[in-house]
Amino acid sequence: MSISINSRIKSIEISGIRQFSNQLIDFPEAINLTIGQPDFPTPEAVKLAAIEAIHNDQTSYTHNAGLLELRAEIASFFQDKYGLNYDHKTEVIVTNGASEGLDSLFRTILEEGDEVILPAPAYPGYQPIIELCGGKAVYLDTSDTGFQPDPQRLEGLITERTKAVLMNFPSNPTGITMESEQLEKVAAVLEKHELFIVTDEIYSENSYGEKHSTFARFESLRNRTFLVHGLSKSHSMTGWRIGFVLGPEMYMKHVLKVHQYNAICAAVPSQFAALEAMKNQRHVPAEMNKEYLQRRDFVYGRLTGMGIDVILPNGAFYIFPSIEKFGMSSFEFATRLLKEGGVAAVPGSAFTIYGEGFVRISYAYSMAVLEEGMDRLEKFIDTLN
Ligand code: PLP
Repeated sequence: MSISINSRIKSIEISGIRQFSNQLIDFPEAINLTIGQPDFPTPEAVKLAAIEAIHNDQTSYTHNAGLLELRAEIASFFQDKYGLNYDHKTEVIVTNGASEGLDSLFRTILEEGDEVILPAPAYPGYQPIIELCGGKAVYLDTSDTGFQPDPQRLEGLITERTKAVLMNFPSNPTGITMESEQLEKVAAVLEKHELFIVTDEIYSENSYGEKHSTFARFESLRNRTFLVHGLSKSHSMTGWRIGFVLGPEMYMKHVLKVHQYNAICAAVPSQFAALEAMKNQRHVPAEMNKEYLQRRDFVYGRLTGMGIDVILPNGAFYIFPSIEKFGMSSFEFATRLLKEGGVAAVPGSAFTIYGEGFVRISYAYSMAVLEEGMDRLEKFIDTLN
């Protein structure tokens, strides 16, 4: 007898980020600039709300879509901040992180052989989810267009197999945001083609420029756009596992079935914590953002001072400098930087082939760590020049 696991799982590789950070254990003295999560604690009131829920035995399953009151707060947040109108009873689902939201969404919309176009360099979590649904990730190269999706190039990739376009701005790994002029040009292409649009806006509250990342604001696209969001990054709640999916009712009732059978509901103490975050802590990101902005300016200033080619990011907490001029692959550069320079940064190749020639530096670290990291990087670069 020969038994075998699902062949699609077999072909999925562990993430390039993980492959690289696994090496870190051998370099305990290295300055680690690889982590993709905030270095702030979860706000105190948010933690207390979860503790109180546990003490009050509010730990049973909620409605599959999440606490009604939480969904109402989520809907009113998107209304107030982005002018988007979602019915909290039928168009909002609370998920176990944005990750589960994306998974439930793609399982709802994809059929075998469907293609999903996504700008790249891209977050490595997307391709496995798409492939597990039998779909195929098709990358839109943004490495030579300032990491902005070029509308004509996007249109050139659309075929009869294209089912969806997935956008992630502010972007992991580039930190780039899509400003409204660009958003309108891309929307004009999307309006011409009957496709689903999925926007992963997990970093949209950590954004220092315009905040027009969503396509749902275009009336013509709203009825086929899904917005994925959550509290992992904005409220420093990565381990609490709270995400949201918002979308048109006619599709969300199907997404809810997948979420229901997969998860029943999002973690309940976390939902009570999220309720506090959405109700009373909306301004926490402003404080964190002030700090991120200071760090971004510092890292950007140091990199440009070293003569490194880098685009100023306007969101998230990543910066994605070019290392092309050093004439080695991003993996080799990152490995040598770790071994010879004592700094860990993620090779761009972890973010698809279009990330080759770059490295991702996270500035979700204290100024003291960043200062030491930049000093070491500068010394290492001097040895290459
Ligand atoms: N989307 C992007 C672009 C991310 O960078 C991450 C995490 O790093 C996620 C989604 C996952 O978010 P969550 O923790 O809410 O599942």
